[in-house]
Amino acid sequence: MSKSSVIDVFLRVRPTKNPSNLFKLNKDEGTAEFTIPKNPDQGYINNQIEKHTFNFAGVFPTDTTQEEIFDKIAKDVVDSAIEGYNGTIFAYGQTGSGKTYSMTGNPEARSSAGIIPRTLYHIYDYARREQELIIDVTISYLEIYGGSGYDLLVADNRSRNLHDLPKVQAMATANGQTILQGLSLKKAQTEEDALNLLFIGEQNRVIAETPKNDASTRSHCIFIVILECRKPTSDVKTVSKLCLVDLSGSERIGKTGVEGILQREATGINLSLHFLELVIDCLNRQANGENIHIPYRDSLMTLVLKDSLGGNCKTRMIATMSSEPDDLPESICTCRFAGRVANIKNKVTRNEAVDPFIIIEKLKRENQQLKAELAMIKGQSIKDHLESYEIDECKKKVDEFLNSDDPAAILVVNDHLKMNECFFQLKHMLKNLNKKVSSSPVVPQPQAITNNNNTVEVQQLNDEVLRLKQLIIQRDNEIMILLNLIQKGKGSNTNQSLVLQGPISEQPEIQQANTSSILQPIEFPKQAEIDRQSQILTEKPAVKKQNFMQGSLDSEPMSQTTKTTTAQLKELNGMLSEPINISNDQLLDRNSALEMFRKSYRKAQAQEDLKQELQEKMMTSKELGLFINNQRNVISQLKDKIEQTRKEQVLLGLVSSDPNQVSTEEEKLIAEYNKQKDIYKQSFDKLKQLKAEVERMSTQLKHSREKMQQDFEKWIDMMLKQRNLSMAATSVLSDFKNLSQKGGEDVNSMVQQFYKNKEICNQLLQK
Ligand code: ADP
Ligand code: MG
Repeated sequence: MSKSSVIDVFLRVRPTKNPSNLFKLNKDEGTAEFTIPKNPDQGYINNQIEKHTFNFAGVFPTDTTQEEIFDKIAKDVVDSAIEGYNGTIFAYGQTGSGKTYSMTGNPEARSSAGIIPRTLYHIYDYARREQELIIDVTISYLEIYGGSGYDLLVADNRSRNLHDLPKVQAMATANGQTILQGLSLKKAQTEEDALNLLFIGEQNRVIAETPKNDASTRSHCIFIVILECRKPTSDVKTVSKLCLVDLSGSERIGKTGVEGILQREATGINLSLHFLELVIDCLNRQANGENIHIPYRDSLMTLVLKDSLGGNCKTRMIATMSSEPDDLPESICTCRFAGRVANIKNKVTRNEAVDPFIIIEKLKRENQQLKAELAMIKGQSIKDHLESYEIDECKKKVDEFLNSDDPAAILVVNDHLKMNECFFQLKHMLKNLNKKVSSSPVVPQPQAITNNNNTVEVQQLNDEVLRLKQLIIQRDNEIMILLNLIQKGKGSNTNQSLVLQGPISEQPEIQQANTSSILQPIEFPKQAEIDRQSQILTEKPAVKKQNFMQGSLDSEPMSQTTKTTTAQLKELNGMLSEPINISNDQLLDRNSALEMFRKSYRKAQAQEDLKQELQEKMMTSKELGLFINNQRNVISQLKDKIEQTRKEQVLLGLVSSDPNQVSTEEEKLIAEYNKQKDIYKQSFDKLKQLKAEVERMSTQLKHSREKMQQDFEKWIDMMLKQRNLSMAATSVLSDFKNLSQKGGEDVNSMVQQFYKNKEICNQLLQK
């Protein structure tokens, strides 16, 4: 739906040394009043009229800040552009009245930055605040001089002359649109990129000037920002164009009149502004009901601003003026022109478009998801565990999902095992993130073991569990035989058999083993062997752990059950520069265990070095950033100096009429200027490169920290498991030893104690 909107016109008065008392502003009413005494000699515009009053949408006196100008004039046009409406803000007024100050100001100093840099800050601030909106910014900067267009965003800005800049030509498309051929469109991903483009354009503007070709007076500059905005979940995007226009000085129109201009075309006096006036007059007549052709096509200027004037665009004009007595006639002309502009009616429409690329991406994602769901429903996954490459795949997917900037990104997996793995990975990351290190020993949950990211390790652990279960069964059989022997020696005892009933019936696998023990002859362990095993397992825990660490258990009888674990320990020990002599208490305190692990962790030094290097690079980046800021000031000062020198030389008549001729002094200044600009560019490139390196190194450091955490988790799990198993197995065997030694004494309580310990051992093994 389109809405009709008039062009709002504002007046800004620049500060001057000697303001005339014939001019008055009424801020509340938004009026400007000129009281011109009747004085035909001075040739004022109409000596019959003494008072001229002009109405504006707002008037701004000399003390108005740049911020206020942006807030009152530009802000809502920029906000509308983000919503998809075209916008234009143009400054009109005589030379020196403050057009460039209002539009560009001094972008380096925030307080005196004009509308263009403030527009850029506003857009990127908005993008930072509204994470739910994706905003793509593209920038062009066009200069129009003598009816021809020039691209101000050329990378190689060694141009000495306006005509060295690439030319821009308007081409009409079949559907009546205008394309600006030769005008570069630069993507600006960050605020810094956008400001740098403005900076490049400004420098090109200055350098292309010559004393006889005072571009700041006679050329128009149009800073174009194209915004493409969309919500991540939407197929629709809005595309809008913001034109920020610094027009040439308006005085020539007033002083020479249209005919004068036409006659003097060859001397380069500005025709574009004349055509702009003409278009505005025609639009005025159209607004008054006349059916009239609007001559947009007569100049590049009016073609570029076609939408802004009478078209689909929210347009604002800033009329700038000075109230010095000599400037009042020009200021009256400016106000008259403003009045005509204020009559123009635009039709503003939101520019929405369905983006085929977004739809294709969305359909692809949907397709992937449906395929995954189908695979799950069909039960295509018949496996009970994942291969290591599949676990790696899941990890990669989770990483991609977490690192994606696209809020619509999804995690697609096609079976429940992978889904569990992805959840596990997420949980693991979350745990690391929260750094909630529990101080109690953590025995891994069954799922965690099945889904651990090392399948080989899982397999080995499962084998070990199986072996230990078999050992229990074997010991069960042995104890049964032992009890039979004791009972045979003592005669039948009902109480004793009652005691045996409980634990046996609760353990189906033991029952089975028991039956088989009757059928198959089971070798009873010799007393010497029992003694030896008990001896090993009742050694002091600290000494035992030292042995585990050094892998010396391989030669011990218990090594049958712990062979695989030892192999894993060896692998984990490979990560350490020396064995960790850790006490029981330290093992149970995760923080001190982590500290000890870190000290012996082989990769810790490399990690420390990387951290050091990263810090140094960050410091260099900071220093370089400060240097670049300073360099901008140096360049700006040189720019002012060149301008100043030119003006002086024109005044003193030191330069000839050849526009390409420059004095030696100027030549020197330009050379210095180019040199400083090269330094700026090199430093800027260096900073970009440094930033990329810092980013890469930060990621590397993050990964290496994660890897250390993972290695630590593996190591501590293994150590805890070893400790628990060794303690449980020690109790079982020592009970068994006591039982076999004591024979008939207090058999009932001994057997009870044995089953209690065996139960604990079983529970541990099942975990
Ligand atoms: P124009 O672009 O209309 O020819 P400028 O913007 O270059 O004029 O202004 C001429 C001079 O006046 C510049 O030095 C500028 O800094 C100064 N100037 C203009 N307007 C203001 C203002 N509102 N406040 C302070 N200085 C101003
Ligand atoms: Mg200017």
